Amino acid sequence: MNGYCDFQQQDQARMARYSAFEVIKNAFTGNKGWQPAWRKPEPKKSYDVIIVGGGGHGLSTAYYLASVHGITNVALVEKGWLGSGNIGRNTTIVRSNYLLPENIAFYEKSMQLWRSLSHELNYNVMFSPRGVLNLAHTPGQMDVYAERGNAMRLMGGDAELLNRDQVARLNPGLDVSGNARFPVVGGLLQPSAGSARHDAVAWGYARGADLLGVDILENCEVTGFLREGDKIVGVETSRGKIRAEKTAVAVAGSTSRVMRLAGINNLPIESHVLQAFVSESLKPVIPNVVTFGGGHLYASQSDKGGLVFGGSLDGYNSYAQRGNLPLVEEVMNEFLAMYPRFARLRLLRSWGGVMDMSMDGSPIITKGPLPGMYLNAGWCYGGFKATPASGWCFAHTIANDGPHEINAPFTLERFKQGRPLDEKGVGPTPGYH
Ligand SMILES: Cc1cc2nc3c(=O)[nH]c(=O)nc-3n(C[C@H](O)[C@H](O)[C@H](O)COP(=O)(O)OP(=O)(O)OC[C@H]3O[C@@H](n4cnc5c(N)ncnc54)[C@H](O)[C@@H]3O)c2cc1C
Repeated sequence: MNGYCDFQQQDQARMARYSAFEVIKNAFTGNKGWQPAWRKPEPKKSYDVIIVGGGGHGLSTAYYLASVHGITNVALVEKGWLGSGNIGRNTTIVRSNYLLPENIAFYEKSMQLWRSLSHELNYNVMFSPRGVLNLAHTPGQMDVYAERGNAMRLMGGDAELLNRDQVARLNPGLDVSGNARFPVVGGLLQPSAGSARHDAVAWGYARGADLLGVDILENCEVTGFLREGDKIVGVETSRGKIRAEKTAVAVAGSTSRVMRLAGINNLPIESHVLQAFVSESLKPVIPNVVTFGGGHLYASQSDKGGLVFGGSLDGYNSYAQRGNLPLVEEVMNEFLAMYPRFARLRLLRSWGGVMDMSMDGSPIITKGPLPGMYLNAGWCYGGFKATPASGWCFAHTIANDGPHEINAPFTLERFKQGRPLDEKGVGPTPGYH
């Protein structure tokens, strides 16, 4: 509790830097009056908790460890700079439109945290609940959406089944004519879903964690784990050895490589590249997030006006942070099947990120697999929207040496026990999750 009060006091001091007065003052003084949003401390010899990975999940874990559990003697160890991983590479979609009760409960927790995140962090993460619309192209698909929508509503979420005219009214740019390559018959809308500004999420959590006393150690790569017998007692890094009572790993696409340093070689995870694309800026044309039902494509419009979209994995295992042309062609075809009017739009950028695809499409947030260790992984296509709940649950698991009921289902053991949380019922085929 003291930590939180200190946080508020320090934050009030920092708030002054973000006031309209400070913005105007700095505009006239060459923007030289701003302070860094987080410190650059030297590593201490030991901490209560080390978090490996300065992506969204590592940062939110650090923040909730300090703010909810009062554990502030924490080091967050990042091999590059904050935001260099998938937290800064995703297409920013935030939703909880799942079918399995375990997943709905978890992602609803995330939605709840998203709604008040800017206020809680005192940092604008630009959460924009503009609605996520899944298009249906067959009556069978409408039945599947009706089932999913009912499951969401039963668990307290929001979902609306739309017919073709309602889809057309909601998203006038879509081709819903009978001549469309995949004619639209309706859709499933989650009105409270939307998007958020990805790098602001990283910076907001970093600033919040730093204010509470967490040491954020950038350019500090974990190269090995310190052990006493079976127990993990810290990490070896490019900036020296650091000991800790508890070592938590949240490295997303690098999970298999980092866990191999601890001798764990058999995680149910494959690493794949996922690409994303952004066009030149347009006036507002896509009011919500839209997904294509005839393939795998999701699109939205950024606040700057660029159309942001992506599709499936490249389809082979890789650690490269850029993708290949066949997927570019597939994504463009799907995008134009939905929006033929954008055929002459120019693409500005494309990039890739390495995804840790779990074998059932659901995440892992657990104690173990070695004593002294905790693991957060397997985020597949959807880890950005999970950022708040993932950190909240992981912090609970680390602080209490056991899971919260929300993340209790997301064990590693489920794969051994034959109890997968296979949302789409597609089996161990990462590309389809
Ligand atoms: C193109 C693309 C689009 C996506 N779109 C969406 C979307 O619309 N919605 C959604 O919900 N999700 C989306 N995702 C998924 C989402 O981005 C990820 O699941 C999520 O960001 C992963 O968690 P993270 O933020 O902690 O990962 P990261 O930001 O990758 O964090 C992991 C960190 O660990 C660090 N690290 C690795 N090895 C070490 C080491 N040895 N020592 C120290 N540090 C190390 C890395 O440098 C990295 O910073 C998308 C992903 C991609 C690539």
